[in-house]
Amino acid sequence: MAISQDDLFKKLVAHSKEYGFIFPSSEIYENGLAAVYDYGPYGVELKNNIKEYWWRAMTQMHENIVGIDSAIFMHPTTWKASGHVDAFNDPLVDNKDSKKRYRADVLIEDALSKIEDKIRKEVEKAAKRFENFDEAMFRTTNTRVVEYQQKIDAYETRLGNAMKSNDMADLKAIIEELECTCEVSGSRNWTDVRQFNLMFNTQLGNVAGEEGKLYLRPETAQGIFVNFLNVQKSTRQKIPFGIAQIGKAFRNEIVARQFIFRMREFEQMEMQFFVRPGTQVEWYNYWKEARLKWHKMVNPQEKLRYKDHDNLAHYADAAVDIQFEFPFGFKELEGIHSRTDFDLNSHQKYSGKKLQYFDPELNESYVPYVVETSVGCDRMFLATLSNAFQEEAVPDANGEEASRTVLKLHPALAPVKCAILPLLKNKEELTAKATEVFNQLKIHVKCQYDEKDAIGRRYRRQDAIGTPYCVAIDFETLENDTVTIRDRDTMLQERVKIADLPGIILAKTNMAQLLS
Ligand code: ATP
Repeated sequence: MAISQDDLFKKLVAHSKEYGFIFPSSEIYENGLAAVYDYGPYGVELKNNIKEYWWRAMTQMHENIVGIDSAIFMHPTTWKASGHVDAFNDPLVDNKDSKKRYRADVLIEDALSKIEDKIRKEVEKAAKRFENFDEAMFRTTNTRVVEYQQKIDAYETRLGNAMKSNDMADLKAIIEELECTCEVSGSRNWTDVRQFNLMFNTQLGNVAGEEGKLYLRPETAQGIFVNFLNVQKSTRQKIPFGIAQIGKAFRNEIVARQFIFRMREFEQMEMQFFVRPGTQVEWYNYWKEARLKWHKMVNPQEKLRYKDHDNLAHYADAAVDIQFEFPFGFKELEGIHSRTDFDLNSHQKYSGKKLQYFDPELNESYVPYVVETSVGCDRMFLATLSNAFQEEAVPDANGEEASRTVLKLHPALAPVKCAILPLLKNKEELTAKATEVFNQLKIHVKCQYDEKDAIGRRYRRQDAIGTPYCVAIDFETLENDTVTIRDRDTMLQERVKIADLPGIILAKTNMAQLLS
């Protein structure tokens, strides 16, 4: 059953709440806190499995990558050295009538995508009019389309330059030229564009004023950089080696929408790989490929693509995003950045402490170069969930046409691996046997026991949370110690011995399937 992307997204958000994956934060108070979300009972299981897949792929599959868990609070000078105090800004603009705040670059990009819509409409119209329609030719020869495209290209270049040179006046000029309007007031009454720092800050209790100002980390990477020598010395790593970390990050995002795609509190899975200067291109290419492979084990190749950065951050000499096709289009899922020796050098300068590595092969000391891989755990969650979410036409128990909602999650990531279902609730022999099977299995994998409602409805409930296998205990079980296993995706059932169950379920749901 085909559903539009818009509908899919709405259904996904509703499904996430109804089935205990994601709840809006503190929702009982005026619909909650914008752009902050809580993970429910199934959500936390799925999220933990995603983290485990990443953690093992990094630290277990690479002998030269080790993990850390650094604190959220860091010495405030860290953020001066990293450039976040001075350069971690978004340009914002307010509509004077509605008081609604926008990110200037997003407002401009939205206006440009409206021009792109016009092109698309022209193309659709022409495609209907002409037989053997050649879209590429039409796009390069139709005067109106060419003019639209030139306009988009020119403004994109100007936007890129204005962002790079912090030219707030030009951003305002572009907003006026493109006649951007506020979606709430409908007016074009804008304030000047100004820079807004994305770091949240708080205050130490025992130190007053600027001195006691602390930041909530906007990325986990700096906790890795400042610990570079601690880790290298305590684990006697030789370059090249990596440090991996999963942890919370905080950004005071101005435009926070699209569910868990852009949140103010989120989780990152970052790995910094320290290499010999001059070898960074080779390692950048290695990690670019390795990271796409990791994603392709879970999500289909056609929904993943690379997007090179047009504007490089102050610390990078190369950067690429792995984008995923979310229900609202292709967007960044992971960033791979060649960060040069910027961070370590800068921490050396600000701290006055050496952050160098003595290379025994070269017999010299140097500040290593760094290749970073950084993926948002929540974005990975959203990508995986939206790809898994499907509505299918299936016959019901009487053979009538019906539908089911199913999460076709990879079995290793599914929140519950196996549901144990006695055929009937009020037959003591069946429920006792089912409890026995449940107790045997639960020491191996995350299981769920369910005896409420007809078995068909219980299968649907498990489909809706993505449980890959359902084990039914019926009257034959009582005779010969066999059960049926139902496969979530094919809905086919197979009869197996109870004694073989742990082996079968473990083999099918083990993380090794993703790692191999
Ligand atoms: P964007 O351009 O979408 O704001 P970014 O380029 O600022 O993202 P990075 O600083 O490269 O993002 O952060 C690394 C990863 O962290 C991103 O690829 C994304 O998956 C995740 N991430 C960043 N900001 C957020 C956020 N506000 N909410 C959820 N995940 C985020």
